[in-house]
Amino acid sequence: MINLLARTAKANAKYMCQECNSMEFIQAHHNTPGDDNDLVVLCALCHSRRHPSIPIGLFTNKTHQPYWQNKSAGALGRELGIQPQTIILRAKRLKIQKGDLSIKDEQRLKERGKYGGQTRKLARNEQVRRYKQEHPELSWKEIGQAFGISGSRVWRICHDGRSSKCQ
Ligand SMILES: [Zn+2]
Ligand SMILES: [Zn+2]
Repeated sequence: MINLLARTAKANAKYMCQECNSMEFIQAHHNTPGDDNDLVVLCALCHSRRHPSIPIGLFTNKTHQPYWQNKSAGALGRELGIQPQTIILRAKRLKIQKGDLSIKDEQRLKERGKYGGQTRKLARNEQVRRYKQEHPELSWKEIGQAFGISGSRVWRICHDGRSSKCQ
């Protein structure tokens, strides 16, 4: 659950540090210790300042290292409107190596992005509609929060042609 909340928080922040707008080494920090609903999205530097007793290396360790030298998965994900992890999974599937990302490989990732993004969006919309049916007591905004999207987006998803059964 914390992973989902952290991912949602990062997506809502558009993978940008909420303190300095950096997009490198983006991580979620508990504003209130132990409260998973009170996360702030920070870059490694800003995050390390919140934990003065922890060595900064732990915030910039390998798991947060950019996948490519010339292009971060975060920046590419932002261009495509998807999560950096999705970019990296896709790169592994396409056997695109670490190091420098070539223009050709970047194009391959983007082409998949169009197709994969569309399919995933449709599946997500279906989940949103089902969620709305199962939770008629929740507001558009509350449903949006569960999916990391805005309330008005939820409304539109539930009011397009195919979704008359929704509400
Ligand atoms: Zn920062
Ligand atoms: Zn923290």
